[in-house]
Amino acid sequence: MDIMVNEPHIQLLCEDWYKPYVQQVSMLRLDVLHPVISGNKWYKLKYNIEYALNNGYKAVLTFGGAYSNHLIATAAAAKAYGLKSIGIVRGNYAELTHTLQDCISYGMELQFVSREDYNRKTDAVWLESIKHQYNAPFIIPEGGANEQGRVGGEDIVAYIPEDITHICVSVGTGTTFAGIRNALPLHKILYGYVPMKGGVYLKDEIPRWLKPEHNTNWQLFDHWHFGGFGKWDTELVNFMKEFYTINQIPLDIVYTGKMMFGIMEQLQSGFFPSNARVCCIHTGGLQGNSSIVHMLQY
Ligand SMILES: *Cc1c(COP(=O)(O)O)cnc(C)c1O
Repeated sequence: MDIMVNEPHIQLLCEDWYKPYVQQVSMLRLDVLHPVISGNKWYKLKYNIEYALNNGYKAVLTFGGAYSNHLIATAAAAKAYGLKSIGIVRGNYAELTHTLQDCISYGMELQFVSREDYNRKTDAVWLESIKHQYNAPFIIPEGGANEQGRVGGEDIVAYIPEDITHICVSVGTGTTFAGIRNALPLHKILYGYVPMKGGVYLKDEIPRWLKPEHNTNWQLFDHWHFGGFGKWDTELVNFMKEFYTINQIPLDIVYTGKMMFGIMEQLQSGFFPSNARVCCIHTGGLQGNSSIVHMLQY
């Protein structure tokens, strides 16, 4: 099953961006895959959608905030496969964000819940009542963070060339990261960049999702959070504009912008060995830039 509009591909960055620090830096462009079901979100959803279809479900239900890439990707993917979709949204919004408006246009039914209720999203009793209310949909956890999501993440590894030594990817729930580590040859090094404050707590969760022998050669960084999840400053925006000018690749402000900023600082401080061949994964999410488009002008 596939919704791909464009095949993901490797793009070499401009030498000016990484010389003389390493041999090569490239980007795996998952962002080109689909305008809405972009980047890693499709990989996390594909086996969830397949499971729902194979098991006779008529609808999928999932969770997200008002800017969630996962929510809108679920709405669009469900529509493409003839499933109804329901989104449980954190907080109350007098005005709908672009993301939520688009979810509705893909036919997603939204239910706004208080932060307290939202925090019960993994509580079995609360989930039962929600399931009952919506006629037993298939439940996809927030961020597609389940076994099907991680197995989907494994499929990304097929696009990483053999001669790559270091792979870099942004981390939200860690689902994509765990899937990649589970499929990546053991000797290759995987780095994860967490865009929220204190995000390295995930280093204790991720091993539970890894095949034991694959629990090696990985590390998380949460230094480049720019104040917290969804927060940014003009230095980050200027960096993204310059990155676009040099490489012709638009980054998103929530995940890959922060990751590439971190990688730039790591390159300049000599963190990577000079013979490294680094592949950075562009996980998409460009719809999340809608609130700052006027500043970016891609
Ligand atoms: C959701 C998202 C991530 C995080 O993926 P996880 O599998 O939850 O770690 C990274 N980058 C972008 C652009 C995303 O939208």
